[in-house]
Amino acid sequence: MIPVKGYAAQTPETDLAPWNFERRDVGPHDVQFDILFCGVCHSDLHQIKNDWFPGIFPMVPGHEIVGRVVKVGSHVTKFKVGDLAGTGCLVDSCRHCENCAQDLEQYCLNGSSQTYNGLEQDHKTPTYGGYSNSIVVNEDFTLHISEKLDLAATAPLLCAGITTYSPLRHWKVGKGHKLAVLGLGGLGHMAVKFGVAFGAEVTVLSTSPKKEADAKALGAHHFVVTSDPEQIKAAKNSFDFILDTVSAPHDFNMYLGLLRTNGVHICVGVPPEPASIHAFSLLGGRKSLAGSGIGGLAETQEMLDFCAEHNIVSDIEMIDIKDITTAYERMQKGDVRYRFVIDIATL
Ligand SMILES: [Zn+2]
Ligand SMILES: [Zn+2]
Repeated sequence: MIPVKGYAAQTPETDLAPWNFERRDVGPHDVQFDILFCGVCHSDLHQIKNDWFPGIFPMVPGHEIVGRVVKVGSHVTKFKVGDLAGTGCLVDSCRHCENCAQDLEQYCLNGSSQTYNGLEQDHKTPTYGGYSNSIVVNEDFTLHISEKLDLAATAPLLCAGITTYSPLRHWKVGKGHKLAVLGLGGLGHMAVKFGVAFGAEVTVLSTSPKKEADAKALGAHHFVVTSDPEQIKAAKNSFDFILDTVSAPHDFNMYLGLLRTNGVHICVGVPPEPASIHAFSLLGGRKSLAGSGIGGLAETQEMLDFCAEHNIVSDIEMIDIKDITTAYERMQKGDVRYRFVIDIATL
């Protein structure tokens, strides 16, 4: 086994603190890489607090992981020592169900292995995430990271990036489309960058008028303050797509009213409570309410390659790992532009 230093929550009631643990030895198809940076996703906080389901403790969060390869297994063909590498939300899946067979490992019918707070495919060994100094991952679930991009700012692409890229690609959002991005946080700011890069006319919908300048700086063409009834009225029937990144409760019926006929409202944020949706909000204008979760491995690599080609990274604030609890407090208040990234050298 390989000794590793990390930061873990021992219970849902305790703050993250240093914790030493072990990774498996590098198997024939495994890549070991030393972690250099790890992004801080809102779901890290939800999971250590047991907000969604009972977690596996001790828990080492982190699924926006980048670093440099230090060891490869004897059968590894895709990586060599010294390469940059990354891992996102998944470290394995069954690989044979109908979804895995279509490169949709994130929807594995037999249960994919989440990078942390999950189980390996033996369904008993817990997984530990990127708030740690080294990781061992099967090469098929390890991603190539370009040397061209700022490495720390690349980390959030592994979750925030693919979560927004995948639905925009699935629904073929691009030239001639009016895309609204609901919420300008870690996910929303990536959605704006991708929407603009794909050629869509992008509007940011936000409760906070203060975000207009940032939205425009990120490339958005328009900005609508959702707390202003006049602006909402003016925006009715205007969008082909709404990419909804908001994880706070909100009125889906109001937003469905902003879609044109055949418009699609795509959820990628997860509000804590089920929403109330009136059927009239959908059938008037043949609208769709849809959702999308992260992306498969092939699509994640495609996204990373697209970002390298188009010079797209996340806007980040780098933090020391000892400041993670303060970062969580700020994240809860929406006080981050737009993603915290842990400098793992501070571990
Ligand atoms: Zn995430
Ligand atoms: Zn599967």
